[in-house]
Amino acid sequence: MDISRLDMPERVSYLVENSTEWIRSQRVLHTALSQPLPDTTRQALLGYFEPETLDRTRFRRVPGIDNPGFYAEFERVGESIPLDFSSWAAITFGEVILVNESLVPTPPPHSVVFHEMVHVVQYDVLGIEEFSRRYVRRLAQTRFQYMNIPLETEAFDLQGRFERSAGEIFSAEALIRGNLATPRASGATPF
Ligand SMILES: [Zn+2]
Repeated sequence: MDISRLDMPERVSYLVENSTEWIRSQRVLHTALSQPLPDTTRQALLGYFEPETLDRTRFRRVPGIDNPGFYAEFERVGESIPLDFSSWAAITFGEVILVNESLVPTPPPHSVVFHEMVHVVQYDVLGIEEFSRRYVRRLAQTRFQYMNIPLETEAFDLQGRFERSAGEIFSAEALIRGNLATPRASGATPF
């Protein structure tokens, strides 16, 4: 596979396929070494998220977040990688949240875990493949500005609202499920 020969739609398909595989394998790998959410975190996020959702969420502190193996293909042809996860504070694979302990204090700030919980709910509604497809397509459309991907803007918006909420609880989970249930006008994505 020489990715430098792929046109944009082919490149997006390549990324969706490999990202989906990567998310699935990381989920399995880290589940085995994960724990439930820390008690204080669960308590702080209760109400914003359903008890069942908090209970099935898995949590793991890691020394760093590894980039996917398929990034070697980008490096081989001298292209820049799509997203450098090694600089991320946290990442979520399905219901498994990884927190990068080199960048995040222990216990993790509630706001960091809140953001990842938004992704846990998005994964639950969409499934891993659709989450990956939406993430990668919009990533390509936004020229790799991940902060502009709707799945991320939703997470950052709700995280901001949580930080400003001063203990006044709102159901982030209901909002996320409601947003994703709304049929989108954007049937015509270029890829
Ligand atoms: Zn995010």
